[in-house]
Amino acid sequence: MAMKSLQSAFSSILLTWFEHAGRDLPWRHSRDAYRVWLSEIILQQTRVEQGRDYWVRFVEKWPTVEALAAATEDEVLRLWQGLGYYSRARNLLAAARQVVEAGGFPQTVEGLCRLRGVGAYTAAAIASFAFGVPAAVVDGNVYRVLARYFGIDVPIDSTEGRRLFASLAQELLPPDRAADYNQAIMDFGATQCTPVHPACLLCPLAESCKALGEGRVEVLPVKAGRTKVQERRLSYIYLRCAGEVAFHRRGKGDFWQGLWEPYLMVGREGAVVESEGTVVGYENLVQGKGEMVLLAHDVKHILSHRRLLCDFYFLEVQQKPVLPDDYIWIAEPDLDDYAKPRLIEIMLQRVEEYLGKN
Ligand code: SF4
Repeated sequence: MAMKSLQSAFSSILLTWFEHAGRDLPWRHSRDAYRVWLSEIILQQTRVEQGRDYWVRFVEKWPTVEALAAATEDEVLRLWQGLGYYSRARNLLAAARQVVEAGGFPQTVEGLCRLRGVGAYTAAAIASFAFGVPAAVVDGNVYRVLARYFGIDVPIDSTEGRRLFASLAQELLPPDRAADYNQAIMDFGATQCTPVHPACLLCPLAESCKALGEGRVEVLPVKAGRTKVQERRLSYIYLRCAGEVAFHRRGKGDFWQGLWEPYLMVGREGAVVESEGTVVGYENLVQGKGEMVLLAHDVKHILSHRRLLCDFYFLEVQQKPVLPDDYIWIAEPDLDDYAKPRLIEIMLQRVEEYLGKN
């Protein structure tokens, strides 16, 4: 089939597929830019199944962008807790304030790109879903579907690949069906042409799919290079004194910015210094003659581009040791009020189990 007719067959088959197989997602019932934008930020690094509940909770708590803009960072981080990639939550609040200040959401891709946390993909999604702008989305799903269907082996993470896929995606987009088409291709990649075990046998595009015809489904799309994963070792102490625990808020320039964590001890052989200036030696802490108990060793936790290896300790002291200035003592029943990363929630469960036994 010639390229042009292949392209028009692709778009119309995809739209027909979408009519009966598209996902029914709560934010699709409205073209309200606030709801659309919120869903896109939540879904940036989160699966739909997990993001759906968070979206509902956000909309219930803050039904309008004005309401969200008036929230505090702590409130937003608390509701975001468990979703990971916390810079999204901070950007969400900053962007809500930008929108309120500007008197409403921008209605162009360029204008939307100026909002904090909104890149080219998110801007195209919001512009097409909320305002019907004919801008094609290009995300991992789109790369995969296009690379397979058109049999393209140019690496998707190369400059050439990014240009080629962006222009092909734009050519394929029917200008009068921008929102439907963008949703269709994303759904198709998420549920039909999946990264592993795509449902080729039941695929409406199978007849003209290049990758299927050439036996290259498993090798497309091609990626040039993988980002190196950095390993970090962290040792946390649940440092407790008279029912209070030492916690501090993580600062700028590292992951989990703005979230709370217990005392971070560094000092194991080969450990990476987590944060200079917040390190106090173990000797200082045990002046209170407490006994350090190892609750868990080498707990693995994966972040984007980072693999954390963590130890959890418990230490009860009779006197509060002198800690760096950014530490505060929090009464244990109040710990729920502080936004924490998932890893620290896991640590708190271990502490609870330990205290339950002792
Ligand atoms: S035939 Fe398979 S590889 Fe080709 S578009 Fe359909 S699901 Fe994807």
